Amino acid sequence: MIADLHTRLSALGIFDNRALGALDAAGFTDVESLLLWYPRRYEDRRQFSGFPTGPCDEAVCLLARVENCETKYVGPRRRYFEATMMPLDPGPLDQPIGCRWFNMPYLSKVFAADQEVVIYGKPKWSGHRLVIDHPDYEIIEDGDSVEADIHLRRIVPVYRLKEGLPQKVIRSATFRVLDQLDPDALPDLLRKPAEGSPFVGMSRYAAMRAIHFPDSIGERELARDYLALEEFFGLQLNMLRRKHTYAAQSGMRHCGEGKLLAKFQELLPFALTNAQLRAIGEVRAGLESDAPMNRLLQGDVGSGKTFVAMAAALLVVEASFQVAIMAPTQILAEQHYFVFQKHLEPLGIRLRLHTGSRREDGNMPLFDGSDIDAEPQIVIGTHALLYDDSQLSNLGLAVIDEQHKFGVSQRSRLINKGVTPDVLVMTATPIPRTLTMTVYGDLEVSVLDELPAGRGKLVTAVRVEPDPKKVTAFLKQHLGEGRQAYMVYPLVEESEKLADVRAVTREFEEWSERLAPLQCGILHGRMNGDEKDAVMARFRSQEVKVLVSTTVVEVGVDVPNANIMIIYHADRFGLAQLHQLRGRIGRGEHDSYCVLVCDGKNPEAIEKLKLLEATRDGFRIAEADLRMRGPGELLGTAQSGVAGLRLGDLVADARLVKVSRDLASEVLGVDPTLESPEYRHLRVLLDVRGEGVELS
Ligand code: ADP
Ligand code: MG
Repeated sequence: MIADLHTRLSALGIFDNRALGALDAAGFTDVESLLLWYPRRYEDRRQFSGFPTGPCDEAVCLLARVENCETKYVGPRRRYFEATMMPLDPGPLDQPIGCRWFNMPYLSKVFAADQEVVIYGKPKWSGHRLVIDHPDYEIIEDGDSVEADIHLRRIVPVYRLKEGLPQKVIRSATFRVLDQLDPDALPDLLRKPAEGSPFVGMSRYAAMRAIHFPDSIGERELARDYLALEEFFGLQLNMLRRKHTYAAQSGMRHCGEGKLLAKFQELLPFALTNAQLRAIGEVRAGLESDAPMNRLLQGDVGSGKTFVAMAAALLVVEASFQVAIMAPTQILAEQHYFVFQKHLEPLGIRLRLHTGSRREDGNMPLFDGSDIDAEPQIVIGTHALLYDDSQLSNLGLAVIDEQHKFGVSQRSRLINKGVTPDVLVMTATPIPRTLTMTVYGDLEVSVLDELPAGRGKLVTAVRVEPDPKKVTAFLKQHLGEGRQAYMVYPLVEESEKLADVRAVTREFEEWSERLAPLQCGILHGRMNGDEKDAVMARFRSQEVKVLVSTTVVEVGVDVPNANIMIIYHADRFGLAQLHQLRGRIGRGEHDSYCVLVCDGKNPEAIEKLKLLEATRDGFRIAEADLRMRGPGELLGTAQSGVAGLRLGDLVADARLVKVSRDLASEVLGVDPTLESPEYRHLRVLLDVRGEGVELS
């Protein structure tokens, strides 16, 4: 039978029922599921290295004979299993290597003297003996001689195990499936490589073969690159298609002449930065165009994104359309509301704070002083605005703050509202360029790469468990000069648990006592909206001098008078997140101080934190964070965030990302709907990875 990717393993007729049952239980049901289970690493078993006579820096792969097995006791409870290995054909200088496994007593039933075994691990001294602790192993059984071409005498793939399925079963199943596979059933997704390309001669089928059973390490690398490129190509195809879909909507011109904007600039107490002016120009061009705008405004914390949003809003209002400003939390929505109010009400703009359900409970003070009956020109709220269109009959521009909490499907919801508004997404996450192309590849990008002048210095210091007395003295000095401070305690859990709340409450009480009579306030995720509003209002009015909080202050809070932030357990945060946090200070004219406190148990953590002492460049920090933690963490999601990437690495493969982008754009340039016979087969990429980058 000739198989394609979707052929069930059971239909191949090459596995017995037992093997099928085991494969099935591990989730290997069709050809594709096996082929996409890429090897974790490889062992070169073409020629085994000689037995080492000393410790090695790298793992070695050895073919050995078990000489002796023993369970040894170290202390009353602790024991380990040891199999002593010798070369099959020992020479006079060869010495045994002890392979040791702790707490795996069942291995005494797996190993027996005289077995042939492949072992993989790093030899080291233990006293005068050479040992390998917890090596990978594979016992060669008689039947293997039949399959020696699979498990021996080649570069052998080693897979992550799944549901207790033995390594050899996965390997031989994959080998045999590849043999059954019709190369034509795997049409190339990438076009034929041009002459001079490293991929000449490569095809999807060849790459699949080579990633599992490469003839050389070089071939394996090439296959990996080819398949990674294919993955990126899939992502980019989806991105660009979304971009095209958006651009193809019938849009409208949403731009006034700019009289309001000019007046706004006149009234501002500062001059806009060049970066702000450039971004406003780019947004303006988008608003003026008939095609719908879909733009990302990327700028480090404190770079002044809000003012670009205000400028855009004014252009739209002047053209008699409404603007919606959406923030990820109610606190931030209120924050925006205050800032907008301060700068736009003098221009006679009607603003409304959309408070969602909380308006109904009657306790909510109505912040908006505007005439409730008049249509608001700018509505500010959380993303809940998307689900309540009663106020947005005439929407011209949607500004979405802090995109990483906001998924692609939510964005497309805006499109589905019928009229296609222009969209401006703002993010303070300084996403590295490669990642931007993948995560926001469907958007045009404007960058604010300049901080406003006239800011004080921001000094960051890493400290190991400082004496609270010293901290108190430091705080009192600055608070005495009229400044304010944040004390941040991270969550232990993903969502705020009672234990965290208790911990932060205790800290709040202690600091209140130490700093009396100065007022402290507390803020955490378990408080209800009104409580949060109240404490933020008291902090803004400077009645509360110190805000003790969990990370809810993370994004967007703007109190320029606060110039101190002390972050406890800083090592629990990612660098990018710490950078975001400290962006809350350094906004005023005074020098600011950020202290990163950790317990000092982990020297690596201190090293890592020191990067924040050295630089304030969000992009550098983001790159470092991405390298250390992977894209999922950076973007604030638990899982890896970018679905569809098994091989591709967004940092290391920057070049491939770029190439894939060009390839995708070329294809869509010829056939935007992928319906032509030439490109129809690419539709599989759309179905599989349609929402490839869903981050929330
Ligand atoms: P972001 O949202 O990008 O973090 P904001 O728009 O909140 O930044 O601006 C940060 C702070 O900088 C605010 O206190 C704001 O008043 C101030 N600011 C913004 N633009 C300028 C500028 N061009 N010159 C001086 N201060 C500015
Ligand atoms: Mg902001």
